[in-house]
Amino acid sequence: MAIQRLLIANRGEIAVRIIRAARELGLHSIQVHSQADRDSLAVRLADEAIDIGPPQAAKSYLKIEAILDAAQRTRADAVHPGYGFLAENADFADAVEAAGLAFVGPTGATIRLLGDKVSAREAAAKAGLKTVPGSQGRIEPGEAAGALAEEIGFPLLIKAAAGGGGRGIRIAHDLAEFERFVPQASAEARAAFGDGGLYIEKLIARARHIEVQVLGDGERVVHCFERECSLQRRRQKVWEEAPAATLSDTTRQSLCESAVALAKSVNYRGAGTLEFLYDEATGKSYFLEMNTRIQVEHPVTEMITGIDLVREMIRIADGEPLRLRQEDIRVRGHAIECRINAEDPLNGFAPDPGQVEALNMPGGPGVRFDTLLYPGYAIPPFYDSLLGKLIVHDQDRASALSRLRRALREFRIEGVKTTAPLHRALAEDAAVRAGEVHTSFLEQWLEREAPRLAQYGEVDHP
Ligand code: ADP
Ligand code: ADP
Ligand code: MG
Repeated sequence: MAIQRLLIANRGEIAVRIIRAARELGLHSIQVHSQADRDSLAVRLADEAIDIGPPQAAKSYLKIEAILDAAQRTRADAVHPGYGFLAENADFADAVEAAGLAFVGPTGATIRLLGDKVSAREAAAKAGLKTVPGSQGRIEPGEAAGALAEEIGFPLLIKAAAGGGGRGIRIAHDLAEFERFVPQASAEARAAFGDGGLYIEKLIARARHIEVQVLGDGERVVHCFERECSLQRRRQKVWEEAPAATLSDTTRQSLCESAVALAKSVNYRGAGTLEFLYDEATGKSYFLEMNTRIQVEHPVTEMITGIDLVREMIRIADGEPLRLRQEDIRVRGHAIECRINAEDPLNGFAPDPGQVEALNMPGGPGVRFDTLLYPGYAIPPFYDSLLGKLIVHDQDRASALSRLRRALREFRIEGVKTTAPLHRALAEDAAVRAGEVHTSFLEQWLEREAPRLAQYGEVDHP
């Protein structure tokens, strides 16, 4: 391997995940950290750590010069961006390569094309994919946009071209709302993403979120099948599964082939995910967006395929051609992931950072817990609330659900309120167990069930 010293330009559980892959490949791992993350698990696990600035992400994890400077000082030869922060920043990818380092991800040009959701829709349409009915290109506030909105029909979504992480999306129920929201949404998008560009999409109600994992080496592209991520709150995933249990083989094959077609059309390099909405009522699926990075929920795919996606990403960045052939990638069993956040589901999901007192992490057969937690850790209040991901794998979905219930019982944390009670309740729910879910399911479910979550607290054991 030409890469020997990998700088991890991220934090939290994904930094830990990348350090593990680096170590297994025999690489030296260098962990950047803000002043609030000196005591993080990633800093403790890495071979080397370097301070990049104050706690606020804008002054550390989002600061391109600070990260490049750290890379130079530590003589890194490659940079892994993880997810969030600079992972989908094309200028960052370009700057890393201009400094003579390998960027573990696609080229800046690919990120620019696919990271902008409007140009991604155009690239998808060109590759023959069906996109959600909506505007061609960005909309400009004014009469033409209103006429287009009426033509598409209400309710519709006003979306930020640069949006992500569930932010930058608004629903308009009629023309009056539409005209009122467009300028607001544009100002918000400019403030949040530095780009006020908007587009509109028809609202696909009661659809499933299905996404396809791909790996490309710049020439060849393979898919690693799909994930179902319909359980969402505020358009953020909460629980993910692989494969999508209720999908027919024909639909599965067509989604996976579409994903490969788009990735191939841009000579995709690295790991990427194509997101789709699947409308079971009509049997139609629509391309939503492509994420040009490793995703939070990648472990469910790793569990069912046996592929180490992070290791593959690093090999690809090293210039190695893909080792995988499509016909060798097979699905074995079923995997489920629950995102454990430092949020109190009994109190409107209020953030609850704090000091971890008691901690019991689940284990045993078919259980994986990717986390930033250790006993005594003081969770800093500055970042994303994700504490860890509980992933289970078993022969089929029913046994994976039993395993999940068992593992969630073993999980115990004191000092911090988490979303574990929500997952315990979901794992018992008849509709969830039957797989009868869609992207609005969880919010509707919470309206009914939230008061009952108290009975799903931690079980008292060492
Ligand atoms: P995934 O797409 O991997 O399922 P999320 O949507 O939860 O995961 O995003 C992972 C992290 O990346 C979150 O912290 C989210 O806020 C952040 N994120 C994703 N896309 C963007 C973006 N375009 N701009 C800023 N942050 C983003
Ligand atoms: P982000 O970049 O924030 O992940 P996405 O475009 O992927 O934004 O959408 C996030 C979520 O919002 C989807 O998983 C889905 O639940 C919902 N959503 C997005 N677009 C639509 C749509 N046209 N109709 C219905 N739901 C949508
Ligand atoms: Mg998305």
